[in-house]
Amino acid sequence: MELLKQSIRQRGIALSEQVLKVDAFLNHQIDPLLMQAIGREFAARFREDGITKIVTIEASGIAPAVMTGLELGVPVIFARKHQSLTLTDNLLVASVYSFTKQVESTIAISTTHLSAHDRVLIIDDFLANGKAAKGLISIIQQAGASIAGLGIVIEKSFQQGRAELEEMGFRIESLARVISLKDGQITFLD
Ligand code: 5GP
Repeated sequence: MELLKQSIRQRGIALSEQVLKVDAFLNHQIDPLLMQAIGREFAARFREDGITKIVTIEASGIAPAVMTGLELGVPVIFARKHQSLTLTDNLLVASVYSFTKQVESTIAISTTHLSAHDRVLIIDDFLANGKAAKGLISIIQQAGASIAGLGIVIEKSFQQGRAELEEMGFRIESLARVISLKDGQITFLD
């Protein structure tokens, strides 16, 4: 997606060979027009797949997920990372190792919002080693719902996530595929 790659080139910062900072438009300050375009792109790619729910993980997945939900006309559920007094229903949980925080945490979705009738599109801001995605997959499968695929805003193709998820049989649609962050240079696959 050219507009996204342009934003990454102009406003992204390679913090190291592993980590890309996109706080200017995705992870802290959010560019609504770009998010709208991202939502339209994901919606176009999954429009024929019978999606009934979108599932993401807080916090940075929420903006692209909501814009996609708006385009597809379906609700968006975000897995919560912290205990909440209001999240008292039966919970579906998974343990996820955070790439950026380097800690293991529990993520949860209430059983109220997902059922075996749902066909789910998973959306997230980044795909690195696939831990967040696998946690979401586990939760969705616990609910008995089916998974149409994953929509990823920025895939770091030099890490293991895509290969492992494809091995598990999942369809992955990434809007920008970064193959290298060496020497502060951001290089895309195509
Ligand atoms: P994974 O679980 O695939 O290893 O990592 C994906 C999660 O870690 C995403 O939800 C994202 O929040 C975070 N993440 C992974 N790599 C990066 C990165 O290079 N930059 C930022 N800002 N977040 C990342």
